[in-house]
Amino acid sequence: MRIDVLGVGFDNVTMDQALSEGVRLMNTEGPHYVVTPNPEIVETCREDREALEAVQAADLVLPDGIGVIYGAKMLGTPLKGRVTGIAFAQGIMERMAENGKTLYLLGAKPGVAEKAAKKLQAQHPGLRIAGTRDGYFQEDAPVVEAIRESGADVVFVCLGAPKQEKWMKKNGEATGAKLLLGIGGALDVFSGEVKRAPRAFQKLGLEWFYRLITNPSRAGRMMKLPLFLVHVAKEKRRRK
Ligand code: UDP
Repeated sequence: MRIDVLGVGFDNVTMDQALSEGVRLMNTEGPHYVVTPNPEIVETCREDREALEAVQAADLVLPDGIGVIYGAKMLGTPLKGRVTGIAFAQGIMERMAENGKTLYLLGAKPGVAEKAAKKLQAQHPGLRIAGTRDGYFQEDAPVVEAIRESGADVVFVCLGAPKQEKWMKKNGEATGAKLLLGIGGALDVFSGEVKRAPRAFQKLGLEWFYRLITNPSRAGRMMKLPLFLVHVAKEKRRRK
């Protein structure tokens, strides 16, 4: 049973539970895919039916943003905690390295995925990279074919939301991969192009605030967060 937050159902799992499910999915015939919505994506799903369907059809829906955790709590149906896409991906790579699984990195600007591949291989000895490709392509078919030919077990799909969710639903099967993860700007972080917020911000659930002050062009997008909280408050009243 998923926990509903404004129409999006979230799996109520701890990081450990999410990772064991991820490993199970990676070891069984696919395609399977994982999404990690934050409040911004929940708001997008309220306006974009195709995005909502792509999120709901995922095998795992993990609560990435602290806003989702607050929202679920305010609605009286708390979630166990945050499971961020980046931390989940790190956990999956550890397990992939132990089991000789191969990873394809798709997304971000040209050159970023290659840089991320080098750093990730250094961080996770034994991790095998099947291939990389930037996220600014016009046609899906050649990209899907390249992934299929690489024989990758797992694909990180980093095209931003909701593009990556729709892409995974549409193309997941044809890639031949067992597990796909839609994790937005993760390759920018893995490559070192963008720094993750300092630990203190992460602990306080203030990563969004750090990203806002270091990258003010995100302000427009972030206005969806207060909107999300208003919608949660309305939904709470409606449920009473
Ligand atoms: N991106 C891409 N192709 C596109 C649009 C975006 O590969 O057509 C990449 C972009 O370069 C960035 C990531 O997708 O690396 C999205 O990052 P952002 O922080 O905007 O996404 P979020 O994690 O907030 O969804």
